[in-house]
Amino acid sequence: MTEKLLAWYETNRRDLPWRGSPAAYHTWVSEIMLQQTRVEAVRGYYARFLEALPTVHDLAEADDDRLLKLWEGLGYYSRARNLKKAAQMVVRDYGGVIPASPEELLKLPGVGLYTAGAVASIAYGAPVPAVDGNVLRVFSRLRADFSDIALEPTKRAVSLQLLREMPQDRPGEFNQALMELGACVCLPGTPKCEACPLNEDCLAFRQGLAGALPVKSPKKPRRVEERHLYILRCGDRLALCRRPPRGLLAGLWELPAAFALPPELVVSREDAGAAVHVFTHIEWRMAAERVVLCAPPEAQGLVWVTRKALERDYALPSAFNGFRGQMW
Ligand code: SF4
Repeated sequence: MTEKLLAWYETNRRDLPWRGSPAAYHTWVSEIMLQQTRVEAVRGYYARFLEALPTVHDLAEADDDRLLKLWEGLGYYSRARNLKKAAQMVVRDYGGVIPASPEELLKLPGVGLYTAGAVASIAYGAPVPAVDGNVLRVFSRLRADFSDIALEPTKRAVSLQLLREMPQDRPGEFNQALMELGACVCLPGTPKCEACPLNEDCLAFRQGLAGALPVKSPKKPRRVEERHLYILRCGDRLALCRRPPRGLLAGLWELPAAFALPPELVVSREDAGAAVHVFTHIEWRMAAERVVLCAPPEAQGLVWVTRKALERDYALPSAFNGFRGQMW
């Protein structure tokens, strides 16, 4: 199976920017960006990020706002903060060289078992598995295994089995080939079994069970938050405020909510529509009002930015994209 898989990968793998360079810094940045994020969404960010911060030293010294601006729209912003913290650790504790062993990689903020395995195997050729959702899906189908892939014991069992099957001379390619098969052929809804290089060996395919696998226990329902937002305009400026330093979208900019409007300053106000944004555990149901003021109100923690400054300097999460058309 391993040989068939590697032969398929050799000729069918997608041409992705991070695949051209096995440098550990590049692999690490790409793997962090790819967590919970589609390949197509990552492409542009990856190129911009490396152009702005080409080395781990640059990342360690990056200004926080600049870093968040580079990450704007990619979501899960704690990844960017952890990348910087980890880069500072790499510079301080490892002489600027990203460690090669999974045990040391796991000490870096934001690096879990999957990422440690991916960086160690792809960048350094270490024979360790990298088990992500794609790999779990492929594996449970190949073995017709009905274990719940959301559970840690299942992940550990898959890791151990992969460790046994992994070719010692090409662990990075083996891991990437499995992930690639999951991303391009062994798809979540309808796997393309007829085109699969492993279909002769796949128990789920032979038993007609592919559609029933993998088994994954449902997540907890999301908490719904209703938010009333203001698109506050004054002259050529828009009001933004910073989110708290911890928690969801920590430290990023947003449209003000729960704002005490000084009636004497209001020139006009109108409904600016509604939007929904879904995070992993929370769903925001937002309604906005567009209010034009004749002068900026005192204090209230607002900054007043021009369109150009917003585009250049302020990271406004994509949760607010539904209102961008009303901002200017
Ligand atoms: Fe997945 Fe089908 Fe290939 Fe089995 S044969 S690994 S179910 S694509």
